[in-house]
Amino acid sequence: MIPYRPEPFTNFAEEKNMNAINEALEKVAAELGRDYPLVIGGEEVMTEERLVSVNPSAKKEVVGSVSSADQALADKAMHNAAATFKTWSRVPVEHRAGYLFKASAMMRRRKHEFSAWLMLEAGKSRAEADADTAEAIDFMEYYARQALELKDRGQQTLVRLPGEDNHLEYIPLGVGVVIPPWNFALAIVVGMVTSAMVTGNTVILKPASQTPVIAYKFYELLVEAGLPAGVVNFLPGRPDVIGDYLVDHKLTRFISFTGSRAVGLRIHERSSKVAPGQIWMKRLVAEMGGKDAIVVLDDADVELAAQNIVASAFSFSGQKCSACSRAIIHEAVYDEVLSRVVDITKGLKVGDVRDASNYTGPVIDEKALNKVMEYVEIGKREGKLVAGGKPAGDEGFFVEPTIFADVDPDARIMQEEVFGPFVAFTKVRDFDHAMEVANNTEYGLTGSVFTRNREYIERARTEFHVGNLYFNRKCTGAIVGVHPFGGFNMSGTDSKAGGPDYLLQFTQPKLSSEIL
Ligand code: NAP
Repeated sequence: MIPYRPEPFTNFAEEKNMNAINEALEKVAAELGRDYPLVIGGEEVMTEERLVSVNPSAKKEVVGSVSSADQALADKAMHNAAATFKTWSRVPVEHRAGYLFKASAMMRRRKHEFSAWLMLEAGKSRAEADADTAEAIDFMEYYARQALELKDRGQQTLVRLPGEDNHLEYIPLGVGVVIPPWNFALAIVVGMVTSAMVTGNTVILKPASQTPVIAYKFYELLVEAGLPAGVVNFLPGRPDVIGDYLVDHKLTRFISFTGSRAVGLRIHERSSKVAPGQIWMKRLVAEMGGKDAIVVLDDADVELAAQNIVASAFSFSGQKCSACSRAIIHEAVYDEVLSRVVDITKGLKVGDVRDASNYTGPVIDEKALNKVMEYVEIGKREGKLVAGGKPAGDEGFFVEPTIFADVDPDARIMQEEVFGPFVAFTKVRDFDHAMEVANNTEYGLTGSVFTRNREYIERARTEFHVGNLYFNRKCTGAIVGVHPFGGFNMSGTDSKAGGPDYLLQFTQPKLSSEIL
């Protein structure tokens, strides 16, 4: 088999690539505003209640309208997925992986089309959308190979005794409820769905309400790749109608969730309760928020640090769980780094992502915009506003990249996830102080340290308690298989998406032993 290699990113400085994505944008624009069904066991259902998805760069533009499940449909989906599990769990892993190899090849051929949907539904720039699509392809290629490798892993690790034939297999769990966020509206959906189904489970996919159309496009791709009906069920719906219902259902065997701390903790609590008739303890895989920091020490390359703070804080309007929202700067270089970051930031253009001269696009919706503006008001009481702090135009949900300086490490804007283009600067005395401040949140997702000092690097490797730690580079942009991704503490259940252990979470090991 060809070894896994991450999908290369597209260089849009090349005219042919720019033309290709622009053509894809035109194709997708002609398909805006359509109606999409929900799908249970291959049966398409159109409901009266709809989830209407809008383009966050142009809020009057409807991307699509998607059917919205009630509890009766959710129950039907659960029973259907449980029935399909009986057959799907017996399908050889080579065949299950085969569907992913096929789907990834199809997505690669239609790469720009998927990226165009991401631009219009999630407000991603060309480069950010391309990275999201590349990651989606990577998840399929990587998890397919991992599932094949897992088949033999148990056998290879067993201690052998003469006269016995022993087998250790990783068998699937059952029906998984997959609940993704909107911010990697393709990659995370693909990663969560494929990891669950390639290991032999069946899936109820409840997409995020802001980005259900791109999730449907992926569902459609799986169907085109020949995936049997009922293995993945596409079930959009309002969280207050079907969210708790799916989590609480007695047939739910596991929940794979990526999203906020608040919703993750709610699911954690509810999934620990045993429903009448339930015969297992539900498993929860949760990837949650971050309050990620970039630390710049006294010997750092100031320009490199400044460029990377800007990229980590403001690309995709800071709406990445890995985004830099705290800049922790040694006092010897604080003024220099801050002033350079402010200068670069003031040169960034914000606006509709179709205009390639805009560095970054909108935040996802009005609620997100209002949340950023609330934190701007809080920030004005907690620090000095040195850039941004205002909405940036009415057509979409735009907000200026915002920087607060001289903020106390315990301030709310240094503790709470804003999830927008928003970064707070704080000054530290030395390395020890920097680590103390860096670890001073309840999260532990990503972090970066800028230094040329080997001793600082080795100490930070031990002392900076985050799942993904980077040196002299941005704290965003993890690549499947290269930088397995996931964090500590309130950032989730310590799993690593795109890593060699990830699939184990959707399996249970079974040992059989025969005397020869
Ligand atoms: P969210 O509000 O927590 O929503 C996540 C998902 O949960 C959505 O599908 C949402 O549905 C659903 N949901 C809401 N209430 C629910 C309930 N009671 N029961 C079941 N499901 C429910 O998060 P978001 O705004 O979409 O995403 C941003 C968050 O995700 C940030 O905190 C970010 O840090 C985190 N994130 C973490 C990672 C990681 O790998 N650690 C990666 C990406 C994002 P609706 O959309 O219908 O409300």
